Amino acid sequence: MFHKAALLLALAVFGAGIIIKVSAWFRYSVGPEKADLRVSRRIAAALKGIGGTFFSRKVLTLIRTFFLEVIFQSHVLKEDLLRWFAHMCIYGGFAMLFFLHVLDNEVVVHFYPEYASTLNPFLFLRDAGGALIVIGIALAIYRRFIKQTHRPMTSRMDIAAMVMVGAIVLSGFLLEATKITSESTFQRMAEEYAGQTDAPELQALESYWVENFGVVSSSLRGPFDKATLAEGKTSHQINCAQCHSSAQWGFVGYAVSIPMRPVASALDGAGITFFLMWAHYLSSLFLLAYLPFSKMFHIFTTPLSLMVNSVMDGQGAPANVATRQMLELDACMHCGACTLRCSVAVTFLEFPNANILPSEKIASLKKLAAGKVLDPKELRAIQQGIVLCTNCNRCGVACPAGIKLRDLWFSARERLLQHSIEEYQLLSPLAYYRGLQRDNIQENDYQKPLDLALKKVAGDTSGKGPLRAGEKTMLGKLNTSIQANSLSECYRCVTCTNSCPVVHNFKHPGEVLGLLPHQIMYAISLRYWEQVFSSKMLWDCLGCYQCQDNCPQRVSVTDILYELKNRAISRRYDELT
Ligand code: SF4
Ligand code: SF4
Ligand code: SF4
Repeated sequence: MFHKAALLLALAVFGAGIIIKVSAWFRYSVGPEKADLRVSRRIAAALKGIGGTFFSRKVLTLIRTFFLEVIFQSHVLKEDLLRWFAHMCIYGGFAMLFFLHVLDNEVVVHFYPEYASTLNPFLFLRDAGGALIVIGIALAIYRRFIKQTHRPMTSRMDIAAMVMVGAIVLSGFLLEATKITSESTFQRMAEEYAGQTDAPELQALESYWVENFGVVSSSLRGPFDKATLAEGKTSHQINCAQCHSSAQWGFVGYAVSIPMRPVASALDGAGITFFLMWAHYLSSLFLLAYLPFSKMFHIFTTPLSLMVNSVMDGQGAPANVATRQMLELDACMHCGACTLRCSVAVTFLEFPNANILPSEKIASLKKLAAGKVLDPKELRAIQQGIVLCTNCNRCGVACPAGIKLRDLWFSARERLLQHSIEEYQLLSPLAYYRGLQRDNIQENDYQKPLDLALKKVAGDTSGKGPLRAGEKTMLGKLNTSIQANSLSECYRCVTCTNSCPVVHNFKHPGEVLGLLPHQIMYAISLRYWEQVFSSKMLWDCLGCYQCQDNCPQRVSVTDILYELKNRAISRRYDELT
């Protein structure tokens, strides 16, 4: 009774969670709130989009994405073999346990009417599924905490997910181990399936199980004579073998049971099997109920995001873009691949603001989209994280969930700007990327924040600008950095300037941009800070690394420009907060 009630309660919470989550995709948006993005319109646009996809050739793309990206996870494989292997272990293990263990009575018995959980191949496959999950989690922990291939922080959600899955798998294996050693479980089964057997035969059967299946008996200890074991074997084959394979096939549970043998009788007497059975059952139900609210919700949303993004090309209908972006926030699995590739993640060393890292920014965007009231400091931090982004889209290319991250940042940026939160846009390549997106922004919305920023910073070298003239410590600070040390190798060959796409945009770049890359390198060495920081080139640099890649002297041109910007913005940012 309690068993069923707990299951129904967990299913009800799970269902409510799914409804809350999915409805949020249509109720909220990452970008600016617009009147034409009402819920009814968004649902209608989504239905139209889905219908159009299923009745077009795009359905082939969906099928391809499903097999290649969702099942085989080719995107993850391209990025990192170890991570792919860990993923495949966890997903494969879960799939095996879900179909062969959780849904055994609903699925397996239809194909195999003689099914019993203690019979092979099910006994072996269930342990294999659990073992795969343990291997996958161990590899994930190794990558995150020991190898430290990630730059993202480990959130409470990550730890909760690992603890919950770990608790289920651990209680499952411990339950299996205690059942193997349990004398009371053996006696209950013997009574049920071999009830007609006389006492000596039952004793022979128990001896056979003690000898071969790891049961710990309080009254029988080996070694047993051959005749007893032979009689026990015959009884086993008549009464038990139809639904009980050798316990060794449950190889993990059996291995765990071996060191437990000295205390097995005491544990059995204390009812440990009953306790573990409930621990396993309730932790599984808890996971089910918590799933829509946890990081593990991505089990559903990541495949959806991959499939939706594979057929939604270009900008798409604004209503569908808003819905897709909300889905994408839920599809993030906090894997950190984006942060690992991010062009500006290195600035996190200078500004301890987690919002600079794309994998961490997602959490803040969720709050922003849901309309939570954020204090000015938090808003500033989000804005700084967004504005420092160069829109290079390296994160989006690396994301295994197929999230169009650059679009997300851009939408959030516009939302903040339209709330009139001032930003020194010209101090970042935002002005440049925004310009490219101009057609997608209403004229007034485009110009107003730009004017605000221009008033604040343009051409300001009066002592209130990013850095004061005569900043004595600047060269000292630069000299301590590895990148800037490469500056001394520069012999002004102008290769950096010649390879710069920003410079190439203008007929007379010097008039528009001020100092050009090679001149900035020169000015730094002469300590001409006013010229360096008032040069528009510094702030219009895209961070594309063309100059650095082409430099014959291996001068870290782009990194030096970044470092200058970081120091300047850091100073200005301190004044704001
Ligand atoms: S688009 Fe922005 S967040 Fe993404 S990798 Fe480039 S700089 Fe980083
Ligand atoms: S946005 Fe993509 S790459 Fe970044 S943490 Fe989330 S799932 Fe991973
Ligand atoms: S990184 Fe170098 S080449 Fe690229 S925009 Fe900046 S200065 Fe130009």
